[in-house]
Amino acid sequence: MTPPRVLTVAGSDSGGGAGIQADLKTMLALGVHGMSVITAVTAQNSLGVQGAWELPADAVRAQYRSVVDDIGVQAVKTGMLASAELVRTVADLLAGTAAPVVVDPVGVSKHGDSLLAASALESVRTRLLPLATVATPNLDEVAQLTGVRVESEEQLREAAEAVLAHGPAWVLVKGGHLCGDAVDLLTDGSAEHWLRAPRFDNRHTHGTGCTLASAIAARLAKGDTVPEAVATAKDYVTGAISAGFALGSGIGPVDHGW
Ligand code: PLP
Repeated sequence: MTPPRVLTVAGSDSGGGAGIQADLKTMLALGVHGMSVITAVTAQNSLGVQGAWELPADAVRAQYRSVVDDIGVQAVKTGMLASAELVRTVADLLAGTAAPVVVDPVGVSKHGDSLLAASALESVRTRLLPLATVATPNLDEVAQLTGVRVESEEQLREAAEAVLAHGPAWVLVKGGHLCGDAVDLLTDGSAEHWLRAPRFDNRHTHGTGCTLASAIAARLAKGDTVPEAVATAKDYVTGAISAGFALGSGIGPVDHGW
């Protein structure tokens, strides 16, 4: 039987822990057929990003058309989009899809390397977020996109409202950078789902955000509602973080096959 097909539009991580590589591993683990539109290639390892090269907009468009026109997609996930031009290119492409879209508005890596030009933020706000079925910003990305700075769990609601003002149907604000339990808030402006997971004493968390967003897309492709998809994805990423392992001499990846 043909499995659900899920497309990631994102950057390549040569170290295999985040980006396209994390997305495809997650999709395999969750039983869907993963496909990719590569937006940028990074030279990357456990120590950080040593180089990044954006692909031409034509190459992004051609990959997308190849996949969608023949194979078809049941869900899409976007990750690293690098520049304003690529954000606009991807938004133009996704405007024509009926599939649910998970937007991970990737800004800066855990090592502090920029994965999105500052000049692209406005296009993310005005072109990409309105197309999202679910947007999955972390607290740094919320601050970059909305100016709202969250320092406590109580402020997650204000952050969510500020993101929803840009038009996604749902937002999952990831509070994992706060102290204590990893608490996220999923809301569409009326329903609220608080997701809580224990914090593990494990620094090997490279690829967490990519993995979560891809897991949500995989579950949506299988027919889950947004709250069901997010709850299952949160369980999957919590397991992957608990099993994160050392690799190289820096920060290792989460374990997709835990
Ligand atoms: N590299 C690429 C290509 C990514 O898409 C991402 C995150 O989305 C990262 C690196 C950053 O991963 P992390 O912040 O989990 O280290």
